[in-house]
Order: sequence, then structure tokens, then C-alpha cells
Amino acid sequence: MSDSGDQSFVHVALLPSAGMGHLTPFLRLAALLTAHNVRVTFITPIPTVSLAESQSLSQLSTTFPQITQKHLHLLPLDELSANSEDPFYYHFELIRRSSHLLPPLLSSLSPPLSAMITDMSFSSTVIPITDSLGLPNYIFFTSSAKMLTLYVSFHTMLGPHREIKDGLEVSGLEPIPKAWIPPPLLKDGNNLLKSFFTENGKKMTESTGILINTFESIEHETVAALNEGRVLKGLPSAIAFGPLPPCNSETDHQLAWLDDQPTGSVFYVSFGSRTAMSREQVRELGEGLVRSGCRFLWVVKDKKVDMEDDEKLTEVLGQGLLERVKEKGLAVKKWLNQEQVLRHPAIAGFLSHCGWNSLSEALWNGVPVLAWPQHGDQKINADLVERIGLGVWVKSWGWSEEEMVVKAEDIAARVKEIMGNDSLRLQALHIKEEARLAVGDTGSSTKRLTALIETWKEFR
Ligand code: UDP
Ligand code: UDP
Repeated sequence: MSDSGDQSFVHVALLPSAGMGHLTPFLRLAALLTAHNVRVTFITPIPTVSLAESQSLSQLSTTFPQITQKHLHLLPLDELSANSEDPFYYHFELIRRSSHLLPPLLSSLSPPLSAMITDMSFSSTVIPITDSLGLPNYIFFTSSAKMLTLYVSFHTMLGPHREIKDGLEVSGLEPIPKAWIPPPLLKDGNNLLKSFFTENGKKMTESTGILINTFESIEHETVAALNEGRVLKGLPSAIAFGPLPPCNSETDHQLAWLDDQPTGSVFYVSFGSRTAMSREQVRELGEGLVRSGCRFLWVVKDKKVDMEDDEKLTEVLGQGLLERVKEKGLAVKKWLNQEQVLRHPAIAGFLSHCGWNSLSEALWNGVPVLAWPQHGDQKINADLVERIGLGVWVKSWGWSEEEMVVKAEDIAARVKEIMGNDSLRLQALHIKEEARLAVGDTGSSTKRLTALIETWKEFR
């Protein structure tokens, strides 16, 4: 479809937030919209927090030259230290405070925009801007629909001293117990996460629509509750348009080891892009993997931010453990293309922190999950893993904030359980089929997305 002379032409701007967990789904959305002949302008807040983000962005221009990239130059905040709470939350705040740079940027885009798609962490700052420009604003919620119920309800759950008494009850849905709510939200007083949830969650009612990277067959009841006003009155439609298929066309050459392993024999371990465990827990996990007797591929992370993660594997694991790991496993301390790992026929199980993108990649590839949530939305997502039968969640393994150490023998037993479980494997393959049907030509998610693009055509 060409720009000129085609009345149905639509142009959409995307604004992602900091961290791979936000950038990756936005990149996949950009690719998907491009495939539907939507013109995309991708607004990139810079500098990024991690190297992984800057590398993905440079890959975007190589793989999708038709996507326009614009930069939002962030200025440091004097009153807030980069390390005060979490480097990623600090960047959320930086981007929020840089939103005054958006109006001239958005107005200068040509052809004029049909809509803007903004990460949920900027709802309260960006919606007033798009409103003043008369531009429809869709919020992309990058976690599960179940997590969205908490996000939009949070401001209604706070007591007079901004405290939380109970979990969340929504009629017709399984409750969210207090113990699954991200710990910073339960703390007294204020913190960045708490203010994001309060302000952005409240403002979501004023967006044009909420996009969720989920699909009917796994979160039907929750999406229906959101759309029927049972979660919060006045919410715009919640559009389940996922799971977003991978768009990374780069080949990772680091998988030679995996290619040499038998089909369905390898257990994969990774806690996403921004979760580091204590040294003691890392070593206990390593012992557990060795004792499971399974082959494994283990991505070790020692620091939240990749650029600071410079200790050698020998130092993190210790020479003795590293030698035992090598007998049946491979430990790496670098970025692997996870989607590519999960797609590999050798992989048969995944120990995951339950970041929503990791789960979406696991189900897309039919890989059973051993859930070990660490923080944020991850317990709510882990519950979903268990409910749809994608995997097992050992609830006694606490949040990383709790600083308990899960013992090697416990880990080994659970790994063996997942790797030898045929019914789990079959259910994971069934979910994979459903995921692919949802985004197939006549699938529920494709139906929602094409309807949305039609709406944008009318707006133009
Ligand atoms: N990821 C990856 N390689 C790594 C670590 C992470 O490709 O070594 C990707 C992963 O596939 C996912 C994203 O980074 O797409 C992480 O997002 P998720 O929501 O799973 O968790 P977060 O990192 O935000 O905690
Ligand atoms: N719904 C929606 N967007 C979605 C998914 C569902 O608005 O992405 C609404 C839908 O309109 C209905 C309810 O949620 O009110 C249940 O959805 P379902 O797909 O079962 O119903 P349908 O839209 O096919 O009648």
C-alpha cells in the first residue's frame, strides 16, 4: 500500500517504556502493524537503560527500514537518584517527565497520525497531550489481562494512609490475594511503583482503548470482566490481540551446543532481562540443576542491568560448581535470543520468573514452565500458568525480596517433575495450537486487530 492517493492509509506512533520487557512487545507490535500495511513511527526514549535495548533498536532499523524512528532525548533528574529504587523505574519516571517534548514531535510527523499507542507507564502524562492534539490514544498494557485488573483497580484499593488492606475481588473472577500483589505496592508511604499504579491506573479510563498481549482462550473471563465494567466502571474496551508473534529475524550463532543435544532433552533456565538473584541462591540453583540429572541451558545474571554485569562466570558460580555444570549443562552469562532458544527442538522445559513476554514465548512454542516468580506481576502471571495447565508453580518459593534461599534438592526434584511430565507437555502443545489459531487469519486476536485498524482508517 503506498502513502499517496490511498484514503485508507493509516499512520500510528508507538511509545515504549524502559527495559526489554516493554521494548520487545512494542517492537513486535510495530512489526505486526507494518505487516498490516500500517505506517509506524517508533519513538525511542534515549539513552536506554540496558545494552540489550540499544542493540534491539539498531536491529529494528536494519530489519524494518520502513519504520521511522524518532528519539526522545531524556534529561537526568536532579532530585531523583538513578539508583534510588530501580534503574528501570527511574527511567519510567524520566520518560514521564520528558513528555513535554512530545507535542512538537507528534505534530511534526507526516502524514498526520491516526492514533498513538503508549506504554501503560505513561498513561497519566501522555493522555492529556494526545487529548489536546485530538489524537486517539491506545494504552498498550504489556502484562496479562489479570494483572491489568489490579493495575486499574489499585487506586480504589488504597486506604486513608495509602495502605492496602486486602487483595482484589472482582465478581466472576478468581480473587488476587494480597500475597500476590507486588511488594512495593504494599509498603507504607510512597514509592515510584506505587505512584505509577495509582496515577496511570486511574487515567486509563480516559484512553481510547487498552491493548493486551493476551488471547481469548487463556484469559477469556478476565477480558470479559474488564469489558463488562465489572473491574472498573468507565474503562474503554480491552482488546486482546496477542500473543504477539516473534519478529526477530537475526540468527544467533551461539546455539551450537543446543544443536548437539537430543530432541526434548534440555531444561532452559532464565529469569528475564532485569532480575538478578543473590549469589547464594544462584549457587543453590546451580547445584539443583546438576542434581536433577537433566541436561540444561542456564542464563546466569548477577546484576539487574547488563552493562554492570561484568563478573566472570567462574567468580559467580565458583570453579567447583562450574566444572560440575559442564558435565551435562551449559551456563552462559550473556544475552541469548530467548525466543530462538524456546523454539529449539532440544528444549523441553523452562524455569521462568514469569515475565509476561517470557510466558508468551513459552506458550507460543509449547514449552512447559516451572514458575518461580521474583517480583512485580509475576505471581499473578504464575497463577495463570498453573490455571491454564502450562506449568507448575511452587508457591512456597517466595519473592526475591523475601531473601529466602530455595534449596538445591527442592529445585532438582521440581526440574525432574517437569521434564518427565507427558501430560504437561501435551497441554503445552495444545496451548501453542490455540495461540497460533488466535493470531491466524480467522483468529479472535486477528479479528480484534483488523477491527482496530479499520477504526483508525475512519478517523483519518
Ligand atoms: N530475553 C532474551 N534473552 C535474555 C533475557 C531476556 O531474549 O537473555 C528477552 C525475553 O525473551 C523476553 C524479554 O527479554 O522477550 C524479557 O521480558 P519478560 O517480560 O519476560 O521479563 P523482564 O525481563 O521484563 O523481567
Ligand atoms: N471483548 C472485547 N475485546 C476483546 C475481547 C472481548 O471487547 O478483545 C468483549 C466482547 O465484546 C464481549 C466479551 O468481551 O463483551 C467477551 O468476548 P467474546 O469474544 O467471547 O464475545 P464476542 O465479542 O465474540 O461476542
